Amino acid sequence: MVSDFAETKSLFQLPEGLVYLDGNSLGPLPKAAVARVSTMIRDEWGDMLISGWNSAGWMNQPARVGDRIGKLIGGPAGTVVVGDTLSIKVYQALAAALEINAGRKIILSDTGNFPSDLYMTEGLIKSLDKGHRLKLCAPEAVADYLTEDVAVLLLTEVDYKTGRLHDMHDLTRKAHAKGILTIWDLAHSAGALPVDVSAAEADFAVGCTYKYLNSGPGGPAFIYLAPRLANQVRPALSGWLGHEQPFAFDLEYRPGPGIERMRVGTPPIIQLAALEASLDIWDLVDMNDVRTKSSELSDLFIELVESGCPDLQLASPRDSRQRGSQVSFHFEHGHAAVKAMIDMGLIGDFRAPDIMRFGLTPLYIDAQDVNKAASIIEEVMAKRLWDNAEYFVQSTVT
Ligand SMILES: *Cc1c(COP(=O)(O)O)cnc(C)c1O
Repeated sequence: MVSDFAETKSLFQLPEGLVYLDGNSLGPLPKAAVARVSTMIRDEWGDMLISGWNSAGWMNQPARVGDRIGKLIGGPAGTVVVGDTLSIKVYQALAAALEINAGRKIILSDTGNFPSDLYMTEGLIKSLDKGHRLKLCAPEAVADYLTEDVAVLLLTEVDYKTGRLHDMHDLTRKAHAKGILTIWDLAHSAGALPVDVSAAEADFAVGCTYKYLNSGPGGPAFIYLAPRLANQVRPALSGWLGHEQPFAFDLEYRPGPGIERMRVGTPPIIQLAALEASLDIWDLVDMNDVRTKSSELSDLFIELVESGCPDLQLASPRDSRQRGSQVSFHFEHGHAAVKAMIDMGLIGDFRAPDIMRFGLTPLYIDAQDVNKAASIIEEVMAKRLWDNAEYFVQSTVT
C-alpha cells in the first residue's frame, strides 16, 4: 500500500500547468493504459485474432474485472460484472427488482438523482405498462417516503451536483423493514469513498468506471447483485452472453448462474484493457486513506474559496462526512465562470442551473493543486473575468 499519493500522482498523465478538478466526470489517463491498450490491440487482437476470446481470456474478463471492482465496493468475488453503460445497468437492476416485488407499483427516488436514472425508469414504466409510478421526494426526506406500497428505492448515493452523501446503511435497513428493495447507484461513490454493499445489505448496486475509476471515455459500467437474489433475478435484457451456455446456441434463453446473467452482449475488450491499467493503481491504495485525503483536500478547498470569493455560495454539505469527493458552489454566472477558469488552467465543470462543480481526487490531486485552483477561482471572481460574451456561448458538453 502506498501512503504517499505523490507516487500514485506520478502514474497519471496530467497536462503540464493544468489543475484537473473534473476527475469526478472523466478520470485522467493512467500512463500504463497506453502500453496496456496498445499491447492488447497489437499482440492480442492483432496476432491472436478470434482465438483471443479464449487464449487472452477476453470472454471471462467482465467477471474478472468485476471481482476487482467488487473489492472497491464491498462485493465478494462473483457478485459484480462489468459491461454496457450505467444507464443500461440501471434499467436491468430496476426491471429485475420490480419483477421480484411485483405486488407493488411505486418506484421511489429523489430529486437529486441523475436524470438518466429517472429517464430509464420512465421508459421502463411505459414498456411494462403495469401501472408503475415514479415518485420523487427531496433527498433529505427519503426516509419519510418509505411506505409499504413502494417496490423499489432507487438512489444515487452521492448527489452528482452537490456531492451530498446518502446514508446507504440506514436507508437500506429502513427500506427493508418495509419490504422495499434497494438499488444504489455508485457513479460518484466507487473510487470516491469507502463503500460496502455487503455490510449495507444493498440488493442491487450499479456504477460507472470512467469517473473516479479512470477507465477512459465510454468505459463500461458495472452491476452488483446481492448473492441472496442472484439466482432469483430474471434478466430483462436477456442477451446471449448472459445465457447459461452461450455457445450451445439454444433457441431458448436460460439465465447463466448468479451475476453472469447480468451480462448482455459482447464486452468492450479494448476499453477493459484501459480499466485494468487503472485498477492496478487502485490496488496500491487503501480506500480509507483515499477518503481521509479527499476530506482534507475538500475542507482546504472550501476554506480557501470561501475566504477569497464572497460571491460564491457553498452548494455542498459543509461536514465532510456528509459529502462525497466533490465540492460545488452556486454562482449565477457559473457557466461563464467555469469557462474563464478553464482558460486559466483550472478544469472544473458546470451543472445547470447555477452549480460550479470541482472533483477532489487524491490519487492525482494534492494540496498544491488545491491552492492553485483556489487562487484561479479568486482571480476569476475578483476581476469578473467571467464577464465576457465569449463565455456565454453554450457548448454541447458542459
Ligand atoms: C454519470 C452518471 C450516469 C451516466 O450514465 P451512462 O449510461 O454511463 O452515460 C448515470 N447515472 C448517474 C447517477 C451518473 O452519475
